[in-house]
Amino acid sequence: MAFAELAVNTPVLRPGSFSYSIPLGLEIKPGQAVWAPFGPKIVQGIVLEITDQPAFGQTREICGVISDTPLLSFHQLKLAKWISQTYLCSIYEAVALMLPPSFERQSLAYISLETIPPATAKNPSETLSPNMQKIFDRLKAGDVTPQSELEKIFGKKTTQNALIKLINQGLVKRTYRISPARVQTKFEKHFRLSGQALAFIKNQNLPKLSPRQTDIFECLRKNPLGIAKSQLNLLFKNNSAVLKALEQKGLVSTEEHQVFRQPIDYSQITPMLHLELSPPQAKCLQAITHSLNTLPENDPNPRTFLLHGITGSGKTEIYLQSLAETLRLGRKGIVLVPEISLTPQTIARFAGRFPGKIAVLHSRLSPGEQFDEWQRIKNGQADIVIGPRSALFAPLDKPGIIIIDEEHEWTYKQQDPQPRYHTRTVANKMAEEYGAVVVLGSATPDIDSYFKAKHGIYQLLELPERLTPYRGASLPKTELVDMRTELSEGNRSIFSRNLHASIEKVLANHEQAILFINRRGGASFIQCRDCGYVAMCKSCDAPLTYHPDQENLVCHQCGRQYSNPLTCPKCSSRRIKYLGIGTQKLEEETRLAFPQARLLRWDSDVTRGKNKHQQIMDTFSRHQADILIGTQMVAKGLDLPAVTLVGVINADISLNLPDFRAGERTFQLLAQVAGRAGRGISGGKVIIQTYTPENYAIQAAVCHDYQGFYAKEITYRRELNNPPFRKLACIVFSHLNHDFCRQQAEVMAETLREKADAGGSGSLEILGPAPAFIQRLRGRYRYQLILRSPNPADFLRNISFGQGWSIDLDPYGLC
Ligand code: ADP
Ligand code: ZN
Ligand code: ZN
Repeated sequence: MAFAELAVNTPVLRPGSFSYSIPLGLEIKPGQAVWAPFGPKIVQGIVLEITDQPAFGQTREICGVISDTPLLSFHQLKLAKWISQTYLCSIYEAVALMLPPSFERQSLAYISLETIPPATAKNPSETLSPNMQKIFDRLKAGDVTPQSELEKIFGKKTTQNALIKLINQGLVKRTYRISPARVQTKFEKHFRLSGQALAFIKNQNLPKLSPRQTDIFECLRKNPLGIAKSQLNLLFKNNSAVLKALEQKGLVSTEEHQVFRQPIDYSQITPMLHLELSPPQAKCLQAITHSLNTLPENDPNPRTFLLHGITGSGKTEIYLQSLAETLRLGRKGIVLVPEISLTPQTIARFAGRFPGKIAVLHSRLSPGEQFDEWQRIKNGQADIVIGPRSALFAPLDKPGIIIIDEEHEWTYKQQDPQPRYHTRTVANKMAEEYGAVVVLGSATPDIDSYFKAKHGIYQLLELPERLTPYRGASLPKTELVDMRTELSEGNRSIFSRNLHASIEKVLANHEQAILFINRRGGASFIQCRDCGYVAMCKSCDAPLTYHPDQENLVCHQCGRQYSNPLTCPKCSSRRIKYLGIGTQKLEEETRLAFPQARLLRWDSDVTRGKNKHQQIMDTFSRHQADILIGTQMVAKGLDLPAVTLVGVINADISLNLPDFRAGERTFQLLAQVAGRAGRGISGGKVIIQTYTPENYAIQAAVCHDYQGFYAKEITYRRELNNPPFRKLACIVFSHLNHDFCRQQAEVMAETLREKADAGGSGSLEILGPAPAFIQRLRGRYRYQLILRSPNPADFLRNISFGQGWSIDLDPYGLC
């Protein structure tokens, strides 16, 4: 007898697979999707392995296959196992990354009356509670009813409780049905002349046709391979009756062909040729090409490249030409971009270079388009896949190159749900598996990536000069304004005098400006408006966060609480308050200060709808607004020659987040925002307002000095044992009850500390419990523990976490 180990789609958290037996006569291969019984339900499973012996004694039989051929390749299965071990998630969670869009289907519960109630069943009317009676009566009226429908009518809790009793008494039964597939393969009718028609033509004895019939007949005759119905509709209006008549005469035959719903309209895209590379570009490309042409075993150099070049230095051109070389070698490529950069322009740039060869995968496509693009890739009909981080798992057969643009972007780290993977880490693992090359591109590389490049784990490639608006164009001039001076000299507005005057000038010259706030979440910290003092934790050197509900300050590293100071401990000023101005407030202030200006606001509140980003971008680039106001979104992807001024309202906000990456984040944001100015011939300038002008991240951003920033940042990281020197894990417990939540976190902390001591894990630090940065999320309180060690995953792997816990390895941002 043969057995299969399955990854099963259930909420039951278990790292391993489930064993099933394979019914006689059923052919099953690894990677295939099957139906399997699980408790009373039928669920989806992916075959991981076929074995002679089940891993667990008692097995049930697989019910049937979902896909006739494997959905996942051998390599993908191997990768899924690695992901589940590395990020401590269930194997199904890892496998799910690689499944086709809309794959997931659930077992839905249906309720009906037992046809023959057992002899023990009492007369219903005597034993039923009013609630049970109501449901019982309802079921008597109809036949099989979805449980969800009963829940809608009688309430969820009431229905569930009553059903338990009704089922126990043997009066009612519950069955499960699988929800229908959400997306189907799309087919379209094709018409062509029948064999009989061709014989008529040959023998010149065609039956007489009406003029309209003749038109269509002639058209089909000129297209011997057949024409799709949609095509015919364009050529001949109201053709159905005519076609039917031709069919009845036996002159036309039809076939169903699969059509692929395609997101890219190539008819709108102009094909483009490669550009001639500048000498620095040529050098970079040569290094990548060399790796692509060398087998991994013969390649002594690292096969992951860090392409460090400021915006406009020609990185994309290198991606394009590296892809061309990859295709020339008969292999395929993946291009990952942050979600926000996935604009029609970006896609057009790749599609123009590789007409017909691109597939895009992202969540804003319709389910049908996603499904079909996935199928096209799986069938080998696309050579290059473009998309956000999830596109890394597209079913491309052994990609030869994986490109990650703007590799420092935080969207490459999946926060929720599990697996909380980092795209870069997984891409490197995949490349190792496939013998592929990885290219990471950025103007402000992640500290971790640059560290690896410095230490020979990645190959560093550099593009030092800007190519737009002309070769060697300088970066915009950046000025720093000390807001403490503004205050002490009597300016209480959120605009410094410099920024105010500069905006006036822009408006007078009919140019454009961008105003930027680097606000993230509801973060608020306490800052003295006179001396710039920020309240910090005495034991963690982390900024404290203001909690308005308790009127106190909390350290989100260790959990220590502090009272809210009324005066500044440094300069005794009473003007100490929490900072946090939103985009709406900034819009109001701007309207007051510059009533003549046309304003446009861009933040997550106004960009909910589909294509909203694009609309805002279009409005602004058509110069239908003078000032664009926004959050980090404006920092990316805009290439607007008419923008001559960028103003950063308060550079300190991201600096004072209780996160060791705050400096890095601030530098990246400021560098990116600054990159938005001066893209045109008329040049531009950047004004950064701050209360802490001496801060190293702000100083480095002003001078466009990545090296200088890196040198300082890496020293701090080393001193504080932060990544890349140690790894972090953030484990969070969430619960509706506050006290219970804190207690559980304390118990866990104790358990972990004991285990660490017993195992002699001397280098393992356990911080907390502390309230999570967002202490209450969707009604649940959250407490967190932070582990710091050379490899926290190894330690955590042997610990069982129950319901309510979530684990994040290499966390980014705030847990
Ligand atoms: P990045 O990706 O680094 O921002 P791009 O590749 O988008 O840079 O290049 C910036 C601009 O310079 C684009 O308009 C591009 O067409 C142009 N460009 C890139 N490489 C060359 C080249 N070798 N010769 C001329 N123009 C180039
Ligand atoms: Zn002060
Ligand atoms: Zn602390």
